[in-house]
Amino acid sequence: MADWLTQLCNKHVNDLVPYESARRLFAAQQSQQRVWLNANESPTAGTYQIESDLLNRYPDCQPLMLLDTYAKYCQLDSNQIVVTRGADEGIELLVRAFCGAGKDSILICPPTYGMYAISARTFNVGVKSAPLLPDFRLDVASINTHVDDVKLVFICSPNNPTGTISSQQDICDVLDAYANKAIVVVDEAYIEFSAQSSRQALLEKYDNLVILRTLSKAFALAGIRCGFVLCSEAIKHILLKVIAPYPVPDPVAQIATQALSTDGLALMQSRVSSLNTSLDNLSNELSKLQDIELVGSQCGNFVLFRAKKTCDALMQYLVDNNMLIRNQSKQIGLQDCLRISIGTPAQNQQILTLIKEFYQK
Ligand SMILES: *Cc1c(COP(=O)(O)O)cnc(C)c1O
Repeated sequence: MADWLTQLCNKHVNDLVPYESARRLFAAQQSQQRVWLNANESPTAGTYQIESDLLNRYPDCQPLMLLDTYAKYCQLDSNQIVVTRGADEGIELLVRAFCGAGKDSILICPPTYGMYAISARTFNVGVKSAPLLPDFRLDVASINTHVDDVKLVFICSPNNPTGTISSQQDICDVLDAYANKAIVVVDEAYIEFSAQSSRQALLEKYDNLVILRTLSKAFALAGIRCGFVLCSEAIKHILLKVIAPYPVPDPVAQIATQALSTDGLALMQSRVSSLNTSLDNLSNELSKLQDIELVGSQCGNFVLFRAKKTCDALMQYLVDNNMLIRNQSKQIGLQDCLRISIGTPAQNQQILTLIKEFYQK
């Protein structure tokens, strides 16, 4: 890059590298022949109707119909909900609203979802870490040593990529320790796959709790970029100060509202139960293989496993056969681990067959 451009660019931005998703890496190459089991998307899409009569106008900042429909779905008041461009924007809004560049920090509990740290680094916000215990429970004692040096604590439950759920008791202990000091964010991107484990009810008791949700996983709408922040009215008021004027495109609001209708919810429930059945089947088959050890629990729409010594070779074998999954082995505690997102029954069978083939060679 030209020197002047490097000089001009924010120092912390010079040090960043663009997000490396398989979607970016393989975008150009025969993407339609590939089977994408790498990003925890739904393997099938729904159908929607779009009305175009209002597309000449800017949309509402917080589309009313959508807000009300989501409020009804999660039985909260609509003034406790912020609609965002995916849960990822929720993360970014929290970082921008609560953390000062070059001085404040967030806390993450790895191995976990990568965007908390990425979002923070983008704004030159520090990232501290309290790794999960060996069985992937929260290390509450370690988390609580950071009470005075972080503004946000990110807890992912069910956790991506371990599929584990944080107990209500552990989350309450963290919320209590951080009361009046910092926001505790519980990311429930996969909650529909383990609905009874939601910590949403704690919003009544804790004004420092924020919950993140998305339509990208169980609702099969990763393509529209729609998520929700559930929080106190006071926190919503703060987030609306930093959100863009028109963050939610009108077609997105229309599609999301349809997905949350009575019919849409019924479809989501049946999608979730068939994905849960497929997940059980695939995990069960994988666990029978000698060279594979399941890791974590399976409370999302994905399965994590360890392939000791063969991890990179197996990954490459799958890529060579047009099957994309996610290598998690760079994460702390996840050496030699790969994550498979649940696909259609045919795709699940295909990957299982390939894995068996690999080990027979
Ligand atoms: C996929 C995912 C998200 C991102 O959701 P979007 O709404 O697509 O931005 C957030 N958190 C976790 C844990 C995820 O796995």
